[in-house]
Amino acid sequence: MNRRELLKLAGAAAALSTAGCAMTGGSRGRVVVVGGGFGGATVAKYIRMWDPAIEVTLVERNAEFISCPTSNLVIGGHWTMDHITRPYSGLARHGVKVVRDEVTGIDAAKRTVTLASGSRLPYDRLVVSPGVDFMFAELPNYQNAMRANKVLHAWKAGEQTVQLRRQLEAMRDGGVYVLSVPLAPYRCPPGPYERACQVASYFKKAKPRSKILIVDANPDVTSKGPLFKRAWSELYPGMIEFRGNARAVDVDDRTMTVKLEVEDVKGDVLNVVPPHRAGDIAVKAGVVTHNNRWCAVDWRTMESTAVPNVHVLGDATLSAPMMPKSGHMANNHGKVCAAAIVALLNGRAPDPNPVMTNTCYSFVSDSEVIHVASVHQWSDTDKAVVPVKGSGGVSAARSHQEAVYAWSWAQNIWADMLT
Ligand SMILES: Cc1cc2nc3c(=O)[nH]c(=O)nc-3n(C[C@H](O)[C@H](O)[C@H](O)COP(=O)(O)OP(=O)(O)OC[C@H]3O[C@@H](n4cnc5c(N)ncnc54)[C@H](O)[C@@H]3O)c2cc1C
Repeated sequence: MNRRELLKLAGAAAALSTAGCAMTGGSRGRVVVVGGGFGGATVAKYIRMWDPAIEVTLVERNAEFISCPTSNLVIGGHWTMDHITRPYSGLARHGVKVVRDEVTGIDAAKRTVTLASGSRLPYDRLVVSPGVDFMFAELPNYQNAMRANKVLHAWKAGEQTVQLRRQLEAMRDGGVYVLSVPLAPYRCPPGPYERACQVASYFKKAKPRSKILIVDANPDVTSKGPLFKRAWSELYPGMIEFRGNARAVDVDDRTMTVKLEVEDVKGDVLNVVPPHRAGDIAVKAGVVTHNNRWCAVDWRTMESTAVPNVHVLGDATLSAPMMPKSGHMANNHGKVCAAAIVALLNGRAPDPNPVMTNTCYSFVSDSEVIHVASVHQWSDTDKAVVPVKGSGGVSAARSHQEAVYAWSWAQNIWADMLT
């Protein structure tokens, strides 16, 4: 290296270090994230990792993160709530300010969010990752029955996960567990069928004369169908009955009945999952664009197509073709969004071709697992995120080996988003 090159390099290093100093204690921008689930926790952490000069505040109503993925194992009695619960404290190490509160209002014109406690947070970019809320009006008596603890969804991990487990424990041998599945799209396409397997594995041990009736609004099993059906017939012969095109329209908690469009079915435990839409706060933010349910985004930045400077992640989005509503997917949305926000606040163009991946493992017993995987990428031709040709697929067969992968997947994704 000659003297001129050495001086140039020294000059560049000095300039960089001055730029670094200028940012110390300063802020390149303020990001507020609503919801500390798979999408929200991930985007908060990754923005701070990729640009510590951006201030990030995460508002989450719950004290701890409780994972829906693997929560079916708690319902099956194989795991406890401790297995699926993690603290938010790890995010503080990345400089994320975690506020336990509820976002009650969003003023996109003034760029502020209002919290239930009364305080107001200003933002340059807002990220909304509220998950789903349920369309209870589709089943008029549902909420009364749920309040009376006669019907549960257990489709948000937490109190209802524990209650459903208790109901199964209290059920007589020879009883019927009814699982009602809503029309797709709903969060975690294979989730209901994994749940049926978990309940069956418990019944097989503890209440072998009991039955499981799946009434599904969809014509057939929506994910990993042949693998689930094989597990049902080989591991739990005669125990699980599947009825397709069986949409629930109401429940009657006095007679313990699920009313379907075509017939009524009775059960001892009613686990009815109502249809979903984007979480309530997405409605208040004005980012719901389709059928009063879902939020369209620009998949290169996850920015809402309806409200500028507001990004939407996870289950609340209007899913791209073949893109499932899953925790893995929401985690990938979070990373694409973090990279885009860091780029935008630094005056750079976001990645024009982001890639997103998904893997969903399902436990068909306490120790055997199947998976489905897919890869999705922005296509300039389609102006959409599309499945990458030849990518993804499903397990050849259920295996113990995949149970090891599934447990590692859960540990790793929780660590990726929260520590
Ligand atoms: C039984 C079951 C099994 C599943 N298994 C898998 C699996 O194996 N693999 C997989 O990838 N996915 C699985 N999923 C799906 C996965 O749980 C969801 O797709 C994922 O949680 C979506 O992430 P999200 O960030 O969109 O929402 P969530 O993870 O639900 O996070 C939303 C957060 O926002 C908070 N929030 C909402 N509104 C407000 C507000 N106004 N103020 C403050 N906080 C708010 C909520 O409290 C919540 O913590 C499963 C789901 C279920 C129900």
